[in-house]
Amino acid sequence: MKFIPGIKRPKDAVGSELFFIFRERELMLVPDREGLSVPAGIDGCTGVDPASLVYFGSADGVHCYTGESTGPAAARPGAVFMDVRSAYGVIGENMFALAGRALHINDWNVGSVFCSRCGTRLGDREDERSRACGNCGSSYYPRISPAVMVAVTRGDTILLARGARFPAGRYGLVAGFVEPGESLEECAAREVMEETGISISGIRYYASRPWPFTGSLMVGFTADYAGGEIRVDGDEITEAGWFGASGLPDLPAVFSLARTMIDCFAENAGRGG
Ligand SMILES: [Zn+2]
Repeated sequence: MKFIPGIKRPKDAVGSELFFIFRERELMLVPDREGLSVPAGIDGCTGVDPASLVYFGSADGVHCYTGESTGPAAARPGAVFMDVRSAYGVIGENMFALAGRALHINDWNVGSVFCSRCGTRLGDREDERSRACGNCGSSYYPRISPAVMVAVTRGDTILLARGARFPAGRYGLVAGFVEPGESLEECAAREVMEETGISISGIRYYASRPWPFTGSLMVGFTADYAGGEIRVDGDEITEAGWFGASGLPDLPAVFSLARTMIDCFAENAGRGG
């Protein structure tokens, strides 16, 4: 899918449209022949003010808008609002990626109305996705919070941890938000130490992925075990351990960077290194 970001629909642009409408961060899906899909028009989507819709780009020539539904039932007959993560299996990978972009932009749009320094209503800039305060000059851009995720290996095992809010039995990779003044590598080492008591070396960049659910860009690293024994805080992390490729527990969703990295570890182990 070729996505071209934009803040305004190009003049005279032809092509169909998609509308990513949220209510309390859940995505509106409407019935179609195959089940449920992202609406291709907003007729009948009550609770959506067409003037409030935000253009965010085109995907293979289809123009994409996002907006907030404010009505009580606020949908067409048969429409539902669904958690975006849950919608992955319903709308597929490409629509899921678009819904993630839309969620992040819509969160910014509905949450950046007044200047947080002086309280003045903000105005849209014409040439970029940002808002400005006409009184004190403050600028507001969509905020993207970097977070790191670390796949630590020790011999033929990988370090997995259970977050306190994970479903029962599920383990993932150590992850956390970058602190002000910290490099990504420093954050990786700190998070692994804080959450599991393990020190690491050989920190190497793996890949990054947008994670709109927390307004993040998740940056994945691999690292080697350098020392220490597992010790969890029991608060944020309830359990952690070293797992071999043949004995992996319940893992995060397939669209997550954690799952991609754990699957990569398992594939490498299957190839013998
Ligand atoms: Zn201001």
